[in-house]
Amino acid sequence: MARLDAPPPRGVTRAEHFYRPGPHLKETAWDLTPPAERVISWYEEKVQRRLPRTEAFDLSTTLYARIDAGRWVASCPCKSAQIVTPADPRMWCVECFSGWFRVVFPDDVAGAEAAVQQLPAHDQFWYQPDDDFSWSRMPPGPPHGKQSPHPDGS
Ligand SMILES: [Zn+2]
Repeated sequence: MARLDAPPPRGVTRAEHFYRPGPHLKETAWDLTPPAERVISWYEEKVQRRLPRTEAFDLSTTLYARIDAGRWVASCPCKSAQIVTPADPRMWCVECFSGWFRVVFPDDVAGAEAAVQQLPAHDQFWYQPDDDFSWSRMPPGPPHGKQSPHPDGS
């Protein structure tokens, strides 16, 4: 039976899809961990050390979620990025131990995902109109590598 938090075929990957327990743990080991906090456990496993977890919340900084190569991603002011989820719109940076940031997702998450779902994952990019921070943001226009057969849009 497929797990409920398994990524849908050709769907956009979320934190709960990507940050999974290692093979030495039960697949359900992190089921009670909120999705935004799983990156901390995942990172601690990768680097084999504990991180100095803080509960501070930075309310002065807004991070925008974007779709980046088929994943919901947000970037920390330190320039590190990680996979985030609309199911728990927070981010705690495992690189600079920043504390928590609020992550803004579009009102229509399904619509953003639908806009890219026909593309291969490595071509799935989508940005919020107010997001001027994302370093990987491409200029407006047709999807990367795609050209309209009719330049007038017809
Ligand atoms: Zn950071």
